[in-house]
Amino acid sequence: MIPFNKPYLTGKETHYIYDAVNAGKLSGNGKYTKLCQEYFESKFQIKKALLTTSCTDALEMAAILIDIQPGDEVIMPSYTFVSTANAFILRGAKVIFIDSNSQNPNMDIDLIESFITPKTKAIVPVHYAGVACDMDKLMALADKYNLFVVEDAAQAVDSYYNGKALGSIGHLAAFSFHETKNIIAGEGGLLAVNDDRFVERAEIIWEKGTNRSSFFRGEVDKYGWVDIGSSFLPAETIAAFLWAQLENLEMIQERRKEIWSLYYSSLNKLCDEFNIGLPHIPEFASNNAHMFYLVTNDLEERTGLINHLKQSGVLAVFHYLSLHKSPYYSNEYPDVAAYNLVNTDNFADRLIRLPLYFDLTNENVEFICGEITKFYIKK
Ligand SMILES: *Cc1c(COP(=O)(O)O)cnc(C)c1O
Repeated sequence: MIPFNKPYLTGKETHYIYDAVNAGKLSGNGKYTKLCQEYFESKFQIKKALLTTSCTDALEMAAILIDIQPGDEVIMPSYTFVSTANAFILRGAKVIFIDSNSQNPNMDIDLIESFITPKTKAIVPVHYAGVACDMDKLMALADKYNLFVVEDAAQAVDSYYNGKALGSIGHLAAFSFHETKNIIAGEGGLLAVNDDRFVERAEIIWEKGTNRSSFFRGEVDKYGWVDIGSSFLPAETIAAFLWAQLENLEMIQERRKEIWSLYYSSLNKLCDEFNIGLPHIPEFASNNAHMFYLVTNDLEERTGLINHLKQSGVLAVFHYLSLHKSPYYSNEYPDVAAYNLVNTDNFADRLIRLPLYFDLTNENVEFICGEITKFYIKK
């Protein structure tokens, strides 16, 4: 059986965890947390990076930081993971879901302006499959209407927009180190703060609403409760695991890109012949090989392909049901649920993700592509 995902271990994870345990400081914000944060700040030009227990938590911190109030509106794509929306819903926002563009699942930036109202507070672009949204266009729009931009960069580690790292462009951004992402910690995430106004408060919210971090830096002589907050920081053991991965980022990325390119070149001709969609990467975007997907002609074809691959011992999956039509959301906001988001529904029905992980061999990829070819030729 070829699984859909297999977490890759560099071999140093347990070594660093052992070191963290031996150092006798297991709670958060220790040596490994600092190493990981500094890595993100220097490699990706992020003003202030804060490690979190998940990308979901980083998004929740972002919603607190931009002071989302009940009734505020937040614009985002419908084709995304629930956490992108939940983080803002939890603070009482109304989420306005926008269609994907026709070329890839990223939000259609040109649609946004017509949905901006006096209640709009933020735009949340999701860099699907690590492929950048058009950030110049988006930041210009946010500037014009005085809105915040929170990048959901969960899938976008080491990916770039015109040379600028994703996660370093919006006022705030969130990364994920869930075991299905390129760089993993089991569960883990990171909040990127790129706007000076949020740096100090971000640390307080991170540390349960206390100014504990500045106390430990010796900036205040006692620490106490100064704001709202929660327990958003992970234990040092998580950071230690992550550090082993970050040290090997380049090697991991190189192999993932090889696999991605092998898929692309092996399937290019077949896709042309059978009108199957391949990942589209705009000129301004880099490819971080987070995901390899195909867009089949319809739902029935996708179901058939998934079943065929399963019978051949390959686990391919689909994901993201249009959030605007989800049971929770359509009950709360039937007005937005009634939007006709054609491209979103298309990707929800037709997109299929193929296995992509470090240990996947070239032979595995060739086998998978061979099975896909068999499915279409037989058809
Ligand atoms: C994985 C993912 C998340 C959630 O990340 P966690 O670290 O599991 O909380 C959020 N948004 C997108 C687009 C994702 O792919």
